[in-house]
Amino acid sequence: MRLSHLTKIAAAAAVLVLTATACGEQAQLGDSGAEAPPVAEDVTFEAGTTMAELNEAGTLRVGTKFDQPLFGLRGLDGNPVGFDVEIAKIVAGALGIPEDGITYTETPSRIREDVIANDQVDIVVATYTINDARRERVSFAGPYYQAGQDLMVAADNTTITGPESLRAANARVCSVTGSTPATNIEQYVDPANIVLFDVYSNCADALRNGQVDAVTTDNVILLGLVEAGQGAFKLVDAPFTEEPYGIGIPKGDVAFCEFINETLAASVEDGTYAAAWESTAGTVQPEVPALPEFQPCS
Ligand code: GLU
Repeated sequence: MRLSHLTKIAAAAAVLVLTATACGEQAQLGDSGAEAPPVAEDVTFEAGTTMAELNEAGTLRVGTKFDQPLFGLRGLDGNPVGFDVEIAKIVAGALGIPEDGITYTETPSRIREDVIANDQVDIVVATYTINDARRERVSFAGPYYQAGQDLMVAADNTTITGPESLRAANARVCSVTGSTPATNIEQYVDPANIVLFDVYSNCADALRNGQVDAVTTDNVILLGLVEAGQGAFKLVDAPFTEEPYGIGIPKGDVAFCEFINETLAASVEDGTYAAAWESTAGTVQPEVPALPEFQPCS
């Protein structure tokens, strides 16, 4: 994906955030305001499938992030808002489940496989990179988006320009336990200089108070933190990995995976994918991404 001009856009967004804060509306940052995705009526599914069970129950349990502006950020009403949340609504709608039939569980990076394997949620939509290690415990539909790992630094930092610059700067770098960036960054930084928290908002706090020199995770997550940082942070904007975001589901549920992929493809056709983007991450990164090619369901 391309994220050119991000810094400029983020700076503009920071101004908007300041304005929003002045109006006392900061907690609604990223609030979608989107029209609800269509809810399928009178749909029937083959008996015994996950789709039939969920449709019958009328509820969908979704694991997502609660502290990631643009993708999953808990709002004033307790429900999260963001692109991941909109994707979950699209899946729910195709199952015949309206928005008020969705329950959200905060799902930090480290526990994503657990909540699926332990049947605490039906799907995880949580900036969740598809990879083989995770596939040992869960299956993935999608991807529905492709991000790339990047770095966020203080707005006045000029020494950190990419992962190769971290060692020379003796930089302390923050990421999140159980995330792909926490592993990827090990080749660029001495272990003693890697700081891990449970959630990225803690990393942003650590950067703000000088405990670390950089935060590393996916560019679009950092973009949301830059926006929320009101001018304190900037994105280095030199992505150095590929992070295809999948929808985590119980391992081996091929029919459910194929159903979700068909739903995602249809959402591009009927415009709900674009609307989901435009009302969330698209407020900062306007270009609607192309849906990546699906990986085989297994
Ligand atoms: N996409 C990466 C991952 O799944 C980083 C983002 C996150 O931790 O949610 O590990």
